[in-house]
Amino acid sequence: MDLTGKTAEELVIEKHVEALRRGFHLWPTLAFDRPPALGDARWTADLILATWLQAETGRPPDNGLEYRVGRSGGGFDRLDFKFLPPEQWLPEEEPVDTSIPLNRRPYDRRIEIPVPWYGAGMSFGSISEQVMVARAKAAQQWQTFTCTGEGGYPDSLIPYRDHVITQIATGMFGVREETVQWAPIVEFKYAQGAKPGLGGHLLGDKATVAVAKMRESVPWVSLFSPFPFHSVYSVEDHKKHIDWVKTMNPEALVSVKVSTPTDVDMVAVGSYYAGAHIIHLDGSYGGTGAAPEIAKKNIAMPIELAIPKVHRFLEQEGIRDEVVVMASGGIRTAHDVAKAIALGADGCILGTTELIALGCTRCSNCERGRGCPFGLTTTDPELSQLVDPDWAAERIGNLYRSFQQQLQGILRRLGLRSVRDLRGRRDLLRYERRDA
Ligand code: SF4
Repeated sequence: MDLTGKTAEELVIEKHVEALRRGFHLWPTLAFDRPPALGDARWTADLILATWLQAETGRPPDNGLEYRVGRSGGGFDRLDFKFLPPEQWLPEEEPVDTSIPLNRRPYDRRIEIPVPWYGAGMSFGSISEQVMVARAKAAQQWQTFTCTGEGGYPDSLIPYRDHVITQIATGMFGVREETVQWAPIVEFKYAQGAKPGLGGHLLGDKATVAVAKMRESVPWVSLFSPFPFHSVYSVEDHKKHIDWVKTMNPEALVSVKVSTPTDVDMVAVGSYYAGAHIIHLDGSYGGTGAAPEIAKKNIAMPIELAIPKVHRFLEQEGIRDEVVVMASGGIRTAHDVAKAIALGADGCILGTTELIALGCTRCSNCERGRGCPFGLTTTDPELSQLVDPDWAAERIGNLYRSFQQQLQGILRRLGLRSVRDLRGRRDLLRYERRDA
């Protein structure tokens, strides 16, 4: 019950109706049938609905939906900004730069993205080919990136290859010399925050003929990615991996995706000395509905703790300005992006948030049977047709537009002309001791 005496379910239904009256088409409307199942403490019903609205309209909601924080009672949900008094805000007409570099080393290729985020690795197998294409289209339109994940590189991504990161993970599924050579950025996935120490697992029902062909495996047989890379047990081994990629593609930037164990700061420094350009920290809240709850809730550090730990250690080592730190695993909103940067990240990587923009209801059915009933995390040829790549790319682009607008608003209210000036400004954050 809230102060008006309405239950959470009644409020969700009311907000759906309200949004529809205002002319928004919330999709999928199936959520009407089961409002009690919509949302949890991190992805509240409000945040899900607000993300759908942003994907529809390209701007934050103005109908009272809470689009900035969830109700987890900790982390990003309790951090807020110490904004300047209104008379000190930057004027609306003053430009605010949201671009970041993806290489800070004094050599190698320069790549900049106009917004401080790109799309997370989600494999062909975990998501449909249609969703992969949509994410690549959006990345191309926004001059940023998306990532293949570890399930190979479908031919339909080739037209977007300047905006596609090739991921190499422990299963080596679909890793081919040409897909490394096409990539402006190659990402080694050593671990993922949602299930560190568990590797990957694609159930047989989703390993269709097309998926198996891409992964050079047998259809309808479950696939496991081991943990860890059995060829890497030291910084020297790690450097050999990076040298291997640089031999195939000397132009490529190299990203290293790690989860957030307590010694993540040491891992980040080791990756820097091995030659990585980007340290990708994946915190414990990430992953689709396929990640086991016990792993999501009990292993690895929340990203809010990992970012400042790594940022400070890189500073102490005198190498912070030579490496880019990207954060993922629990970044839901534009405010989360800004808070992650204020804690010390250069930028963020969005995965689940993009799926929510396409209509995900967080029902956790990603891995079961034919997969997602809305055509997102499925490989079923029929269900996959529910997503039109042009429609989906437009929704992701709209979400990016809304996020950029909000980020610029935050920077203006802090008196900053560039998102690069926000990095590591923990002094601009305060911890709210309110009841969640
Ligand atoms: S099955 Fe589909 S709607 Fe449900 S959590 Fe997975 S992606 Fe979201």
